[in-house]
Amino acid sequence: TKNNGRNGHNFFQPSMNTLAQTQLQLNNDLWHAQENNELRLFYQPKYCAPRGPIIGFEALLRWQHPTRGLLTPDVFLPLAEKTGMIVTIGGWVINEACRQLHQWRQQGHLNWSVAVNLSALQFEQSNLVETVTEALATHDIPPELLTLEVTETTAMRDPDESVRILTELTRLGVKASIDDFGTGYSSLLYLKRLPASELKIDRAFVNELQHQTEDATIVSAIVALAQSLDLKVVAEGVETAEQQAFLTGLGCNTLQGYLLGKPVPPEKVAELPNFALEA
Ligand code: C2E
Ligand code: CA
Ligand code: CA
Ligand code: CA
Repeated sequence: TKNNGRNGHNFFQPSMNTLAQTQLQLNNDLWHAQENNELRLFYQPKYCAPRGPIIGFEALLRWQHPTRGLLTPDVFLPLAEKTGMIVTIGGWVINEACRQLHQWRQQGHLNWSVAVNLSALQFEQSNLVETVTEALATHDIPPELLTLEVTETTAMRDPDESVRILTELTRLGVKASIDDFGTGYSSLLYLKRLPASELKIDRAFVNELQHQTEDATIVSAIVALAQSLDLKVVAEGVETAEQQAFLTGLGCNTLQGYLLGKPVPPEKVAELPNFALEA
């Protein structure tokens, strides 16, 4: 009984308006956020299994909103994707991550790599290769130290086109990583054609490892699959010592998660666990 008369209708109408207004306001704010330098990158360490050294970082977008505080991507990225603003923001992310890596390199961290996330819309832009080329050149970054993370779902939208784009990108020397792996429906044949060097097991599987035997089976299968295709395996969302031990035992190369290190602003990187162990 959805259509339960006037009262039900009146009850929902104002809250919908409020939501729309909030979104509109957020959209306006996001335009200014770029000009006012309110966007930030936090960096989450990626550790050589089981506990170090740090081999690099994933850059994760944050918005230091003037009144609402520090916002995570789930609050504003869907909106930015819808309006297309993600393309400019994404370009900024690539350049900023390279700028930060250059700074770390100057401090002597010559083996560190940095990974950035690409949105579906950004992935399809014809000038993406140009953006990446320019960022690498501007900040003097060896291409193999930049990883581009594309979700399995994005890569599956148009498989042939994704192979073409990723081939063009990896020709620059950068690495490609298939993010949130296990949630899409890649065929083996297709995976083999993708010029990626890494699979990231989705956090949902890692999260359920202890409770669901099926998930342990799926994770084992993903690791075996990756190894047979010569792909490195990164597990994200590692929160417990049990997960750490299990994933290491399976042969995961790289671990990422709150257990080992949360995403932090660049000035806090030196305080991360096992920072002293150099790659
Ligand atoms: P993602 O690429 O899967 O990134 C991992 C997310 O899991 C991050 O959330 C990270 O903070 C969180 N995480 C890491 N370890 C743990 C853990 O042990 N436990 C739990 N519960 N969470 C953990 P975050 O930073 O909120 O980012 C969410 C998503 O937003 C990312 O998911 C990515 O899809 C997207 N995103 C972030 N930055 C960017 C960006 O610069 N561009 C694009 N296009 N998307 C981005
Ligand atoms: Ca990612
Ligand atoms: Ca096609
Ligand atoms: Ca994920």
